[in-house]
Amino acid sequence: MQTYSLTIDGKAVSPDQTFEIRNPADGTLVASCPQGSVELLDQAVKAARRAFPAWSALPDAARVAKLNEVATVLQQHAGELATLVTREQGKAQSGPGANLEAGGCVAWTRVTASLALPEETIQDDAKGSIVVRRKPVGVVGSITPWNWPLMIATWHIMPAVRVGCTIVIKPSPYTPLSTLRLVELMNTVLPPGVVNVVTGDAEVGTRMVTHPDINKIVFTGSVKTGKSVMAGASDTLKRLTLELGGNDAGIVLPGTAIEPLLEKLFWGCFINGGQTCAALKRLYVHESQYEDVVAKFAEFVSKIPVGDGMDPKNLVGPLTNEMQRDKVGSYVDEARAKGARVVTGGVRPAGPGFFYPLTVVADATDDMLLVKEEQFGPAIPILKYRTVEEALTRANSLDVGLGGSVWGNDSAEAANLASRLECGTAWVNQHGGLHPMAPFGGVKSSGIGVEFNVDGLKEYTTIQVVNVAR
Ligand code: NAD
Repeated sequence: MQTYSLTIDGKAVSPDQTFEIRNPADGTLVASCPQGSVELLDQAVKAARRAFPAWSALPDAARVAKLNEVATVLQQHAGELATLVTREQGKAQSGPGANLEAGGCVAWTRVTASLALPEETIQDDAKGSIVVRRKPVGVVGSITPWNWPLMIATWHIMPAVRVGCTIVIKPSPYTPLSTLRLVELMNTVLPPGVVNVVTGDAEVGTRMVTHPDINKIVFTGSVKTGKSVMAGASDTLKRLTLELGGNDAGIVLPGTAIEPLLEKLFWGCFINGGQTCAALKRLYVHESQYEDVVAKFAEFVSKIPVGDGMDPKNLVGPLTNEMQRDKVGSYVDEARAKGARVVTGGVRPAGPGFFYPLTVVADATDDMLLVKEEQFGPAIPILKYRTVEEALTRANSLDVGLGGSVWGNDSAEAANLASRLECGTAWVNQHGGLHPMAPFGGVKSSGIGVEFNVDGLKEYTTIQVVNVAR
């Protein structure tokens, strides 16, 4: 079995204590993972602090070159990283799964390397000059979830190091291995201390959030933990980027030809078995075509192969952990008890692994947990509406706003309605597609700040105005 280490100050660190990572598809042992601690975190922050002056003082072109070297190393190891993601997290190798995740890391790294944050001249005349500069914020603490572990680590680390910050990342204890390997690979290219990784859960996370020598936290995870991160960071006035949970609505406009959209609708709901922040989690369909859409969608969904993600015939794997599998199951059971119709799925299979079938729940109503809460799993409620305005009001009724989508024959009409959704990204005839140049983030309780492109880079900087009198 391959061994994994923390990386602190460019060195592999192997604490005596370990914890087991088991494959969610069959319960077999993937690896013993080194257990981080508050003491090791403090060492990592010290290393990042030591590395900061030299790294931030490098000419921009030197950091661009290093990031491109990182991209090349990640590309060379993409297959290995994708396998690790499937084995610790469960998503399939096939379809938009683990290979997409590993490939996305390479692409996002290259695009981040290509971005620039030039100085901005506000005034330059006989009276004087005013220039706006962006300076790296300092040492960044990154805290990541378990659903897209490699991708989200990449989204946190690359912009930070691109602008001259140094970073300590703490992956989710469910899926630490791909991040340990990512940081190990990055350290073959970068100077010691620029990127460090320490494992742990709430104790280490809380120390990061309150640490006097961390200047910024980038956190991706649940709304509940995000709120505690924000509260904890207040004492040291840390800069924050919070990418939190969502409960994205999709509205199918009346009269929509649904067959050509079924595949996109499927991946919108079920990518990574629904364990995706910006997955479609509530689908609103007009009463005039409700039964038709439910039947056609359920038929499509029932044919998708689910199983061990390492088997190339499967397009969806297990859930990552028991807690999440049980949560989804309990939401479906509650909906059923309240009168919803489970059209396909809805029964937990026997056998090993944290599997739950792809589930379509019709006659869902707004009071059901499956609608009100983020299910974060492979069960989609379909709700009936009478008027488009009513659907929009119900779509906007929750306190989260990550993504949303409108589906229709006339994409201009659909885009018009989509722009009235209260969310960070509004899709038309698709749901969940991301682009490294399109800023991504949530409104309302789905977060603060954005990732990607120049807007994302700016989150790792502070502004300095240089105002010169002549
Ligand atoms: P979580 O909030 O339980 O955990 C996220 C991370 O926070 C983990 O690394 C965990 O160890 C750490 N943590 C736990 N308690 C902490 C504390 N008190 N202080 C600091 N850190 C702490 O989330 P999860 O269950 O791992 O992830 C699923 C959630 O993440 C879903 O709600 C999903 O929508 C959200 N998510 C959002 C985005 C986005 O971009 N908006 C992306 C992916 C996932």
